[in-house]
Amino acid sequence: MWLARPCLHIAPPSPRDELRPDLVPDYMTFVKEAGFYGWPYSYFGQHVDPRVQPQRADLVASAIVPDYALSSHVASLGLAFNTGTDLPDNYRGGAFIGEHVSWNREVLNGYKVVYVPFSDGKPSGMAQDVVTGFLNSDNQARGRPVGVASTSHAAVRLPTRRERCASSRRSLRWAGLEGDRNFDGGQMEQVPLIVGSGPTGLAAALFLAGAGIRCRIVERGLTPSSTSRAQVVNPRTLELLESTGVTKAILTEARPIHRVVFYEQWEPLAELEFGHAHPQFPMVVLPQARSEALLLDALAAREIEPERGVELTSFSQDDDGVDAVLTWTDRSEDFRAPLLLAADGAHSKVRETLGIGLEGSDFPEAWPLCDLELDDPLDLESAHVSFVKGGMVFMLCIRPGLWRVFGNIDGLLACLPPNAKPGAIGWQSSFHIGDRVAAHEVVGRIALAGDAAHVHAPVAARGMNLGIEDAFVFAYCAMDALGGDVGRLNDFGNIRHDVHTQVVSRIDKLTRLARGRPGFVGLLRRIAVPAMTTIWPLRKAMIQLVTGLDHEIRIA
Ligand SMILES: Cc1cc2nc3c(=O)[nH]c(=O)nc-3n(C[C@H](O)[C@H](O)[C@H](O)COP(=O)(O)OP(=O)(O)OC[C@H]3O[C@@H](n4cnc5c(N)ncnc54)[C@H](O)[C@@H]3O)c2cc1C
Repeated sequence: MWLARPCLHIAPPSPRDELRPDLVPDYMTFVKEAGFYGWPYSYFGQHVDPRVQPQRADLVASAIVPDYALSSHVASLGLAFNTGTDLPDNYRGGAFIGEHVSWNREVLNGYKVVYVPFSDGKPSGMAQDVVTGFLNSDNQARGRPVGVASTSHAAVRLPTRRERCASSRRSLRWAGLEGDRNFDGGQMEQVPLIVGSGPTGLAAALFLAGAGIRCRIVERGLTPSSTSRAQVVNPRTLELLESTGVTKAILTEARPIHRVVFYEQWEPLAELEFGHAHPQFPMVVLPQARSEALLLDALAAREIEPERGVELTSFSQDDDGVDAVLTWTDRSEDFRAPLLLAADGAHSKVRETLGIGLEGSDFPEAWPLCDLELDDPLDLESAHVSFVKGGMVFMLCIRPGLWRVFGNIDGLLACLPPNAKPGAIGWQSSFHIGDRVAAHEVVGRIALAGDAAHVHAPVAARGMNLGIEDAFVFAYCAMDALGGDVGRLNDFGNIRHDVHTQVVSRIDKLTRLARGRPGFVGLLRRIAVPAMTTIWPLRKAMIQLVTGLDHEIRIA
């Protein structure tokens, strides 16, 4: 498969834009299965990125040099081969590439579509400008190509988004490819709809914005949630959000955690160290309300805001789009969208209306939870799990003096470490756990993501993190779907269904062991957990599970 990459990240600027304005080149390459392209240690083969510590000369030695260098900082967002015969001969067999922008450069080199000639199945010769005119005489952008797609009648087509291209539509031409036919934004005139502004919906809007796609996001709650179910952001999420700037903001206020310590009745039993699982990012503690606030800030900087107090009350779809009824307290609106992302949580109305089952099983007992003032009886940079009679207790420091405590036992506060002196209780709740995955994630032009598509025990702190991953992959697939390749939405469904099924199954097994019921499991975990944290393949699998690094992020 050929790919054109904005140096590995969908949402410009890429982290490598910080090196130099003429580095690192975007590239086009034939992707070799399981091939290693250097990230994050090197670029374009053996060019080491000096900022990544510790360095990995062993991996860099095997880094593959991509086939063809494109301009630097241009965010190559689309690639389409001309396999048709409608275009002139000099555009036969090669690839059209959309160069979206020109980040951090004085001399603007992007904002155009280029053609790369091919011979014998390989790129050959310089890239040629094909569609230009995105910049006015003051070098201000009037539009940005966000993708390039093949069509049945015109060989290639430039999807765009309404806001940026409204003014440029009049002047952009197909550069002689189709005579004087005016550029037509086609399907991209419509705005995708996201339902729900939890972390999944917010992240999806942000990733889409990074790809140049503006969406509409509706949320029935009037104000952002002030309570925080999730407390842990994993390295995978930090990696995905890096190019949006949110990672930097999270790291500024979050606290790192480096390990989980397991106890039997608060006597140390085993430890799982994961501090260096990711070469760049730690695992961190940040209340979900703050993570959501930082996502909202990043969206606000891109002039995108959820519409609050608006509920999706019904919808239907046909081959070309989704008709949604949006309801305020005093009015309603019919809105047609090319795609709908249901990020509407565990009790998803969209999932229910589509009749999609949530397959899996539930645990019978209630899991009480409280955020409790405590005199920091345990190490602040570890999560703590104590196996107690008939269940388990989990403790994590939210900030010095305030701890998250939950478990699957009655009388939770009677099972704290012996030296703990509990103070006031802040938020307290009780929840039931099920480990379940939607039977499928896509129906037509509607996709499910986040808790709408998977619910599971908070044992490995994956729910919000997995939802943000869904959002990332959705943005890639939605970008292609909006460009005319609607089948890419099914790719999203297939890719994520596999991931959801595998991750939830692993969490389910771990939860069944950790909860210690029935009694023999309580005995088994005493032996199994020390083994799982010391025997290397098991230890590695555990580390990957809790850090979110247990699978590659696939977009195709
Ligand atoms: C105790 C506990 C601890 C957890 N800890 C972690 C952790 O450490 N790390 C982690 O990654 N995850 C954790 N999770 C899971 C995490 O909280 C969820 O996975 C995450 O909130 C899911 O995000 P979401 O955006 O998919 O859904 P939600 O956060 O549920 O957001 C859905 C949104 O959709 C809105 N909505 C619903 N229906 C409509 C409609 N019809 N119209 C308009 N709006 C609608 C809702 O108002 C809501 O705001 C934990 C969960 C629990 C219970």
